[in-house]
Amino acid sequence: MKTIKIGGGCLKGHEVISNIVDLIVQRGRGNVFVLSALHGVTDKLLDGIERALKNEDEIPAIISGLKEEHYSLMRHLLKNDDDFEKLHQELDKVFLKIERYYFGINFTREITPRMHDIIASYGERLSVILMAGVLKSRGENASYIMPQDAGVITDGRFGDATANMPLTSQNFEKNVLPLILPDNNSKVSDKILFFPGFFGISESGEITTFGRGGSDYSAAVVAASLKADTLEIWKDTEGFMSADPHSISDAKLIPVLSYEEASELAYTGASILHPRTVEPVRKSGINITIKNTLNPDGVGSLITEFAVPADSVVKSISHTKDIGMIKIYASGVGLRRGILGKIATTISKAGINIRSVVTSHTCISLMFTRKDVDKAHAVLTSMKPKLYRESEQITDNALICVVGDGLHNHIGIAAKCFAAVSNAGVNIEMISYGPSKAALYFMVDEGDLDITLKSLHAHFV
Ligand code: ASP
Ligand code: MG
Repeated sequence: MKTIKIGGGCLKGHEVISNIVDLIVQRGRGNVFVLSALHGVTDKLLDGIERALKNEDEIPAIISGLKEEHYSLMRHLLKNDDDFEKLHQELDKVFLKIERYYFGINFTREITPRMHDIIASYGERLSVILMAGVLKSRGENASYIMPQDAGVITDGRFGDATANMPLTSQNFEKNVLPLILPDNNSKVSDKILFFPGFFGISESGEITTFGRGGSDYSAAVVAASLKADTLEIWKDTEGFMSADPHSISDAKLIPVLSYEEASELAYTGASILHPRTVEPVRKSGINITIKNTLNPDGVGSLITEFAVPADSVVKSISHTKDIGMIKIYASGVGLRRGILGKIATTISKAGINIRSVVTSHTCISLMFTRKDVDKAHAVLTSMKPKLYRESEQITDNALICVVGDGLHNHIGIAAKCFAAVSNAGVNIEMISYGPSKAALYFMVDEGDLDITLKSLHAHFV
């Protein structure tokens, strides 16, 4: 049995969805499908929270917008009036709940993390109810189960939960396996089970989401808990590439990657996979395959434990401009106990995530998502007592990530890499090499990004 994840990018408009429905019928029986919300629906639900808080008169419009989006799809995908009516009634009940939550926010005048996660989770609930309804109406043996009924148990961290795998696996054996295994007297299962991604339930019963884009992670949790043969991620792209095709026109598909390579690329590269997806499946040795729904017979990318390294060691050169740095200068950073801890705690208390840290004896460099830099800098400058001499913020750099298993134990890779950069006449601002077995990171001025990528790609790929 496979676990197949279908992302929001593929759940967009009735023509694309109708193609997906055909694919499910042709290749999906006997498998579990983890779905995202329909394209853009999570954003609308979250935007609705702000609108509902400010003005209760907006709530009916928020709800009718969401209804229309789902119902108009149903009009295209369901040919039979009775089926339409049944599904319409089922979804109406769900919309009524969402509406009540919005009113609750307006009346109580607060958005708690708890309420935020409850509302965010509804996009996925709606999409599985809809898709199961459509497949049933086509005569398929389709059903769905919600994570709270299946028993996806989390650590209870709102907005950034982690699944408790031992408990979840136990629950799945009882609650989910029977819904997908073949019935007594048949050898193969014709069942199609839909499962909403993005959230689980804490031990005390709270709905908790896995963070934006977290349905990939959910799918990995489901795959591992069911001991699936493989985890397929259905997307509207071929898979991992040797570079972002927007920057490098002859970027190539990478047919096989290791878990390590895929994780590093997931952090910096195009949003092929949520960075945490590898965690749950890696332990059970379940492979991940990225499949393009527009080219379902294409090879896609396979992520597996024993991937053969590339001849040049380097498989991909990814990058992001969505970073910023804060440099903190203090003498003897390397000798002062607790300085790093105090800085990290202060920033984390302000709700800001530090993406990475590089230190020397006189300087600590902290990396953030670009939008967080101003706030983090303000937090640091108001720190008392002031632990450092000077600070500086940088928001015009790009981060480049050179990825390939074996980078750390092949002589000369770093030298070749930096020679390629220097041949392009580009100055390197900062380097991080060593922590990962499969990645080398460095920063260049944003204006030098294109030429650096081209030079590296030509050299290694
Ligand atoms: N629907 C959620 C989001 O947009 C989760 C996901 O699609 O992966 O973040
Ligand atoms: Mg997504």
